Amino acid sequence: MKKQTVKDIALQGKKVIVRVDFNVPLDKDLKITDDRRIRAALPTLQYILKQNPAKIILMSHLGRPKGEVIEAMRLTPVGQRLGELLGEDVLKLDDCVGPEVEAAIKTSDRKVVLLENLRFHKEETKNDPEFSRQLASMADVYVNDAFGSAHRAHASTAGITAHLPAVAGFLLEKEVTYLGKAVQNPEKPFVIILGGAKVSDKIALIENLLPKADAFIIGGGMVYTFLKALGKNIGNSLLEEDKIPTARAVLDKAKAMGVEIALSSDFVVVEDFDKPEGRKTVSGEIPDGWQGVDIGPESRRNFKGVLSKAKTIVWNGPLGVFEIDAYAEGTKYIAEHIAGLKGVTSIIGGGDSAAAVAKFNVEAGMTHISTGGGASLEFLEGKELPGVAALNNA
Ligand code: AMP
Repeated sequence: MKKQTVKDIALQGKKVIVRVDFNVPLDKDLKITDDRRIRAALPTLQYILKQNPAKIILMSHLGRPKGEVIEAMRLTPVGQRLGELLGEDVLKLDDCVGPEVEAAIKTSDRKVVLLENLRFHKEETKNDPEFSRQLASMADVYVNDAFGSAHRAHASTAGITAHLPAVAGFLLEKEVTYLGKAVQNPEKPFVIILGGAKVSDKIALIENLLPKADAFIIGGGMVYTFLKALGKNIGNSLLEEDKIPTARAVLDKAKAMGVEIALSSDFVVVEDFDKPEGRKTVSGEIPDGWQGVDIGPESRRNFKGVLSKAKTIVWNGPLGVFEIDAYAEGTKYIAEHIAGLKGVTSIIGGGDSAAAVAKFNVEAGMTHISTGGGASLEFLEGKELPGVAALNNA
């Protein structure tokens, strides 16, 4: 990576402020239902602790409180869980800046401090210079390990770097290394699988990766706009009418560049989305009144064939409505197939694709599962992420 990491900077005796992504799901009793984001930060935190710093000050957002204190979005349950996982007493504070916070940090003998939800202050998402300065004033070194927020120029990801030496944590380093290699120098053949609801979300990614890719596999809700562009009947399936010309242009461009585009060719369809028991499989076109919700068996086999040539696979977006078991077969089949491949680098975009891979218990078979939905998408689009760009160059 072209950026400095925690290994490139002296931390002994230093106050180290770390931006982490502790945006975990909570149930109505404010219990954490999935602590993977906290676990994902542990290697960086354990490494910093080993260097014997004066303090580790952690900061994160949780949910979208939009500049107000929302009791249900406090980081208190996170502080508890973090303490258990780290085996350290964590000092959890009720705010993230101000004299009381500063005094509490100075007087406490605890090594690990967790600040309150950054987004209780609207200045965070506004990248407010004074708020950035206040955060920075508590520390000597800044570490960013929150890849999932790195595509946002916020006070805790961008503004703060104006005041402190700024380096990457291991999680952020891993993300940038794997995604960076896929974007810049993928081992060929390079196959990209796209799904999810919207074509419009994936156009920039396709444009950026067309020159690098050997094949694109397209399924999910977005495929129907492509099929419509080819003149096929898609019934009541998802369609972005205004993106038909774009889809057409992508197909033409890929053809001219010699890049294969494999579209799903058969479909699981339903008349009533809420009555999966009425589903059937159709090939080629979708009859009026029916809606495509998953890829069919012929598409699965065809996609498997395209994947069998790949050395690098990037997957972004589920191939059907995987949240509903009756519509999840195609996504499950492809997830299991990729997880079983040997000698292949498999990179799973964050968000829904990561959730699908978790749902089907095939996480261990993937090379890298991104922790950032929006951030991994922007990275694959070739955009520079502000939270990464702002770190010290190596
Ligand atoms: P995205 O956020 O664009 O990645 O879209 C993810 C969502 O697309 C998931 O919630 C899926 O349920 C949904 N999806 C995938 N395939 C289809 C489909 N054929 N029809 C409708 N929605 C779909």
